[in-house]
Order: sequence, then structure tokens, then C-alpha cells
Amino acid sequence: MMKNIALWLVVLVALYGCTSKDSGGNDYSIRLEGRTMGTTFEVVYIDSQERVFDNAIDSLLVEVNNSMSTYIPNSTISTFNASNDTAFFPVDEHFYIVYLRSKALYNLTHGAFNPAVMPLVRYWGFGPEEGPEKVEERVVDSLLALTDFRAFEGTKVMVDGETRYLLKKSDPRLQLDFSAIAKGYGVDVLHDFLQAKGLQNIFVEIGGEIRVSGQAGPELPWVVGIEDPVNSTIDNRKALAYVTLPKGGIATSGNYRNVREIDGVKYTHTIDPSTGYSVRSNTLSASIVAEDCMTADAMATACMVASLDSAVSYLAAANVEGLLMYSDAEGTIDTVQTKGFAHLIRE
Ligand code: ADP
Ligand code: MG
Repeated sequence: MMKNIALWLVVLVALYGCTSKDSGGNDYSIRLEGRTMGTTFEVVYIDSQERVFDNAIDSLLVEVNNSMSTYIPNSTISTFNASNDTAFFPVDEHFYIVYLRSKALYNLTHGAFNPAVMPLVRYWGFGPEEGPEKVEERVVDSLLALTDFRAFEGTKVMVDGETRYLLKKSDPRLQLDFSAIAKGYGVDVLHDFLQAKGLQNIFVEIGGEIRVSGQAGPELPWVVGIEDPVNSTIDNRKALAYVTLPKGGIATSGNYRNVREIDGVKYTHTIDPSTGYSVRSNTLSASIVAEDCMTADAMATACMVASLDSAVSYLAAANVEGLLMYSDAEGTIDTVQTKGFAHLIRE
């Protein structure tokens, strides 16, 4: 599986010369690492009771995967995608929450973020199957006609005092892919779980998508490194910038790691839903800070699809902050960032 960590928790010892301690000078930070969603995850929190939530965290990750993993044949998403029915289909709550947020972000980004691209994702070989040996324009065009996100309709109903979530598609061939938002959502689920346990100082990361609250220690903010898309390699990570996050989510998308070659041409895993082809633009990476990680994750993908100008206007419309890296007309690497993002950068 691809290792795609474009954002990471900066080792605070190196930056500050001390580790995370509470106000009494005690080091109560608990760390959990593991694998999920085809990548790695890391959870760090400060708890004077030194509670361990490993099992609960694992179960939550299993729950989210069983809802939205297209690699699990009987997940909610796989069953819904395979269904030949166009009647309302029961989905789980995670699925419904992500569907609703996706719909809002689809509208806000004028379709740049579009989870209905699944038939194209599969065709290009970024789903569970291999890609084609040769790209056929005729096939791309025919699949493009099956990627209208507005052809899905969700609703919730009360049955015996219980909420049921339902979703339907207007054509059985339509399919969803929440890969561009599910990691961020999983991060939010773990963060909110720990917060509900009364914790105030939390760091959660899945595959480079991050959510924090509180601090790493007294006067020790959470600091996240943003990968340099040009000079960094998996074995020798280089940071483009360091960001101090008081609270909220941060996610990065880049066109530099998950790339596939078909017939001698390189394609990235982000699809432009207006053409059906893998995105070809001069945007190299997009790092987004939002109130929650699900929004940051989806908006990062949208910014890779949209033109630079559109991306900047979508960030404003979504009320989120961003740093976009692109190569200009001369091939020089340049960045554009929102005011709010600039404030978070550490000198
Ligand atoms: P990145 O880390 O580059 O943001 P993500 O894993 O968040 O990547 O999202 C990329 C995945 O999202 C692709 O592999 C594909 O499954 C799906 N995808 C591709 N294009 C789009 C799009 N325009 N809108 C929504 N999802 C997309
Ligand atoms: Mg994403």
C-alpha cells in the first residue's frame, strides 16, 4: 500500500528541548500507533489518569471501515455500489453523515469534489481493480455520464423510535467513493471519542490527515510539518513549512505520490469530474485547515481539481484556510495561501 504522509506531528523534543508534560511537570502523554485504511494512524493525548483506549479506538476504526471502505466487499459502500436496486437502501450513520457533508462540499466546489467519480476511479485503476492497458476515450466518456452526484438522494426516517438512514441512486450503475473524505472523517470520529472521554489535549492522525485540540504540553502547541512536494522523498522527508495548530483539522493532497503509469503516461489518483480524466494541472499540493478534518480532507482534494483561482474562491466560500503549491509559467515553484493560513506558519 502507498505511504502517503504529507503531514506529520513534529517531534516536539527537537523543537523545544522538552517533552510534553502537564502543568505539574508530569508526563502523561499516551501514544497509540497502528494501521488502518491502507495506511498508518497515530493517536497522542494527555491523560493524568493514564487511560488506554486501544480497543475502543480499534473498534471505531473497524466501524468506519465497514461503512466506507471500497476494499471490504461487504462494507456499506460496497453493498450499496453493487446493488441493482434504485429504491431507498439502508446505510449506517457514519455513511449518512459523510454523504451529507459531501453533498454540501460538492455544491460549494461546483463539483470539483465529487464522490460519484467511483466508476472512473475504478476504470483508471485507483479502486480495487487494475487500470487499463490503454486508455479508451469512448469508455471514459461513457463512464463520465455515470458520475452525477445529484443522482443520489438521502433521507432519514424514524422507525420504532430509532433513526434509520437511507440512500438511493437513480441508476443502478451509479457508485460512490468516499476515499477523499473518509480518512478525515475517521480522524474526527477518534478525536470526538477522546474528547467525550473528557480529554482536552488530543492529536489524531490517519495517513497524514490530522485533527488536534488543546496542546502537546504546557506552552507546547501541536506543530505539524507540511511536506515539500518537490524536494521531499519517502526516505528523506523535507518540510515546506511548520504549522502551529490551536485546534481543528488539517489535511494535504498532493499529485506527487499516488501516481500510475498507463501506456507511458503518468496519471494521478485525483479525477477531474468535468473531463473524466486524471487531473493535469500545475497545482502540486493543497494543505487545508478547517474546523474538522473531514472538511479539510475533502477540500484538499477539491483544490487539486479546481484551477488555482477557483480553489482560492472555494476556500473563502467554505470559510477554511489553505496553502496551495504550484509551478508557474516558468516552471518555478510558487505558493499562494490565505491570510488565516499565513498566521499559523511558524517562522
Ligand atoms: P489525497 O491524499 O491526494 O487527498 P485522498 O486519499 O484524500 O488523496 O483522495 C483521493 C481519492 O479520492 C482517489 O484515490 C479516489 O478514490 C477519490 N477521488 C478521486 N478524484 C476525486 C474527486 N474529484 N472527488 C472526490 N473523490 C475523488
Ligand atoms: Mg482528501
